[in-house]
Amino acid sequence: MSYIEERVAPRREERLGSCIEYGGTVGEVHKKFCGGCMKNKSRSFSQGTICQLLPAIAILTSLQSTVVLVHGAVGCGGVAHFMGQNVRFGQFNSGDKNPKGALWLSTNLKESDVVSGGEGKLKRAILAADTRYRPDAIVVVSTCIPGIIGDDIDGVVNELQEATSATLLPIHCEGFKTKIMASAYDAIFHSFLRNVVDGVDETEFSVYDNDAALAKEKIRRSRLVNLLNVSSMTGPDQQELTRLLNKLGLEVNMLPCDAHPDAFRLAPFAALSIGVCPTHDDYFMTYLEEKFGVPFVGGQMPIGIENTSIWLRQIAEKLGLSEAAERIIKSETEELNQALKPLLPHLTGKSAMLSAGEIRTFATAVLLQEFGMEILAVRPYHYDEFGGVEVEKLEKVNPGIRVNVATAQPFEAVNILKRAKPDLYIGHNSDNVWAAKCGVPVLPIYGTNSIYSGYAGAYDIARRIKRHFTNTIFNKKLEKNVRQPYRDNWYGEDPFKYIKAGEF
Ligand code: SF4
Repeated sequence: MSYIEERVAPRREERLGSCIEYGGTVGEVHKKFCGGCMKNKSRSFSQGTICQLLPAIAILTSLQSTVVLVHGAVGCGGVAHFMGQNVRFGQFNSGDKNPKGALWLSTNLKESDVVSGGEGKLKRAILAADTRYRPDAIVVVSTCIPGIIGDDIDGVVNELQEATSATLLPIHCEGFKTKIMASAYDAIFHSFLRNVVDGVDETEFSVYDNDAALAKEKIRRSRLVNLLNVSSMTGPDQQELTRLLNKLGLEVNMLPCDAHPDAFRLAPFAALSIGVCPTHDDYFMTYLEEKFGVPFVGGQMPIGIENTSIWLRQIAEKLGLSEAAERIIKSETEELNQALKPLLPHLTGKSAMLSAGEIRTFATAVLLQEFGMEILAVRPYHYDEFGGVEVEKLEKVNPGIRVNVATAQPFEAVNILKRAKPDLYIGHNSDNVWAAKCGVPVLPIYGTNSIYSGYAGAYDIARRIKRHFTNTIFNKKLEKNVRQPYRDNWYGEDPFKYIKAGEF
């Protein structure tokens, strides 16, 4: 992967042709993507979006013994406050009984710094963070201002690395650079691959000093797998996936979220890398395979009954554990189907609309189809080649499901909601608020302490949906008592009228 030679990871628009503007059906979306029809699209009217700093901060603040130094205006790091609860839960689940939350600092660049440069402030902040907190790593996150004024954060990091005990990692995350916020994943992995993984010493984890210890270590590594978690995976999600992998006799090296930087140093010694979201992990896993020969499994999100079984089968196949996997799948699905029996009559026949990151939206929709629910519309934040696997499953049931590829853009969501009138909306809270005001019951697609992944996640999602359907009066009253900011005539318009064709 030649990208690693570069100082900065490429934008996803270029690397994957990802797009955030589309309105159509699930039966067409992948064909249009592959045919190049979704390239260079734009909106002539757009209502906010999400900067790549949000997912970057979500991952980085979760890292153990790491200071996140946001180099920019103080507001750029503001999202860290919103992440605080997640980080504390993550620390608690990793064994810290007195979690302290996110450890982040800002260089607080002002107008005068825009004129005279921010490198001096950055140097002082790195040295202060190192002496004050003695972390194992300091990640320097570049935002729009240093990107525009040309601060050389790599130069500063190189200059100070000798003087600090922490490993310094420059991460290029300027918000203006990309419309695809998932580019943040590549920016983070890029820095860890260049600055941590590439420098790994083959003997660093060889704790053996005799033949027996060496043999034992080799056996351990033959069963060691990297599990690439995502920031929207909860502690219970991680426990569920670890439980299933442990049942296969595998030892888990979980990263990047909630991990210590040492987890990255261990990664090249694993027998297999396992993704839970292809949108999230491909950059890291592809490089690990190319440079260190660590194979990977990564096309499938283990959300949903069949999806979890496929995920397990793919892992087992790579490691020669297929028989064991089939036994696990049989006993787990039998138990799950038994548990779902009293819940499904409350779900079957109900309709839903969903929004979130690309794969999560599609995979959760596939799960609802397994419950016998009807999917009316899906709103992934972006679309790229990885969406095809789940889209194909949705298409088989109903090719007419509406697809709106959009990061935020609530005006499009509300227009579709008013037409579709689903029984349930499942999305992140920032999306759910619009559905709630339209009178539709909402369920968070991610909540810090709930479970969504694996077989246990499938059961719990069904349980929570059933509970929501028990009483829907709150949202009906909410709709009557709040007003939307849109004129009535907007609901008669084509929700995608502002999406413009791309230029070639
Ligand atoms: S878009 Fe730029 S200025 Fe705004 S939060 Fe993101 S990095 Fe900061």
